[in-house]
Amino acid sequence: MKKVLVLPGDGIGHEIVAEALRVLDVVKGRFGLAIETDSALVGGSAIDATGVPLPEETLTKAKEADAILLGAVGGPKWDDLDMAIRPEKGLLGLRSNLQLFANLRPAILYPQLADASSLKPEIVSGLDILIVRELTGGIYFGQPRGIRTLESGEREGFNTYVYSESEIERIGRVAFEAARKRGGRLCSVDKHNVLEVTVLWREIMDTLAPEYPDVELSHMYVDNAAMQLVRAPRQFDVMVTGNMFGDILSDCAAMLTGSIGMLPSASLDANNKGMYEPVHGSAPDIAGQDLANPLATILSVAMMLRYSLNEATAADAIEAAVSAVLDAGIRTGDIWSEGCEKVGTRGMGDAVVAALADV
Ligand code: NAD
Repeated sequence: MKKVLVLPGDGIGHEIVAEALRVLDVVKGRFGLAIETDSALVGGSAIDATGVPLPEETLTKAKEADAILLGAVGGPKWDDLDMAIRPEKGLLGLRSNLQLFANLRPAILYPQLADASSLKPEIVSGLDILIVRELTGGIYFGQPRGIRTLESGEREGFNTYVYSESEIERIGRVAFEAARKRGGRLCSVDKHNVLEVTVLWREIMDTLAPEYPDVELSHMYVDNAAMQLVRAPRQFDVMVTGNMFGDILSDCAAMLTGSIGMLPSASLDANNKGMYEPVHGSAPDIAGQDLANPLATILSVAMMLRYSLNEATAADAIEAAVSAVLDAGIRTGDIWSEGCEKVGTRGMGDAVVAALADV
């Protein structure tokens, strides 16, 4: 029996996770999956109940689970709290305690939604990129860091950009494996001409390449990668990069798809245990109004089945059902366009559940 811990979080988290769980229930029945779910508090709702964003009980359950499904955390209610107990600390705590070092962010533009992108449909239609971002190292965590006052009295801010060989190798392996399961092309993004840490990054990627003869490895400078993402994004299959470059490039790639309500993500450890969540936040402006698009969370369930629970057939069925719903012109407000049928969160969940019967 596989264990999934469900963390709805705050804001629209409860609404979108409820629809994702209905979809999970349907595929469990259809494919005979042995999966049990439990739930716990994280983020603002955990602060309200216990005073901290990541209660001990939640962390214990998370450690015992095979996978975690998260809604979103945060909201104006908790914005003025001290940084140390803000809702986002709950997520960071989960990532670091569970050593979720590999962040997988697909950017898929369903042809049915090509008009939603800010780029021309002929440039982005059918886009299907996977960005693999290192999540627990690099300049966001490197020591020393801080703001210090120099003898002159002037202050200076400083951070340390550091990656060890083993950190680069483990994210490299995740990316090569992912490329192997997709189109067989991997682009490693660095700043090899300026930063020594990425000279080592490139060297390690090259060292790994012979072990994956079925994957074609290329390298690109991060500034060029940003340019290519908006110029000709379909040239990419899988991209792998460090924490900071990945943070920026994955948001850029996300926006190519037009709607943040469509994008799932996964954060994995070395054994493919993972936390799965939509890329968007808790959307307090639309919370509790049956307006949120649950598809990013439903697609996160598909990723969870594929990467942590080894149930690729069930994952394929969910993705096919989502595509069928879009084909049928059913849309939540964020992706709605003239001539389509507008539904709420619950209605979109109903549509995916109904479509699952036919895929
Ligand atoms: P957001 O992603 O919550 O919302 C940005 C805009 O997108 C809003 O207009 C919102 O209504 C819309 N939107 C987001 N998800 C949607 C969905 N599923 N369907 C339809 N529309 C959707 O980002 P924000 O407004 O910058 O942040 C709101 C809160 O979420 C903040 O407290 C922030 O800290 C938190 N946040 C959490 C996460 C996370 O839990 N991983 C990520 C980002 C932001």
